[in-house]
Amino acid sequence: MLKQVMKTDAQHERERCAAARHSAECRCGHPKMPGAAFCMSCTLALPEALRRGTYRKIGDGFESAFREACYHLRELGVEG
Ligand SMILES: [Zn+2]
Repeated sequence: MLKQVMKTDAQHERERCAAARHSAECRCGHPKMPGAAFCMSCTLALPEALRRGTYRKIGDGFESAFREACYHLRELGVEG
């Protein structure tokens, strides 16, 4: 009998992050390298510490860095 698998919020966030990372389009709408968190202009707009965080692996700090980076970019007015 199949058990219904409930996903945790962390798993959902990990999937969202993976999708964003593998996409060829940045959250701002510009093209980006699949595998990179953001396009070059978004990446350059981030403070060094956040930028380093987005180079981490998914499941190893990327999610929180990505979330913070998105928040930071929104504050800068880079919509996504
Ligand atoms: Zn961008």
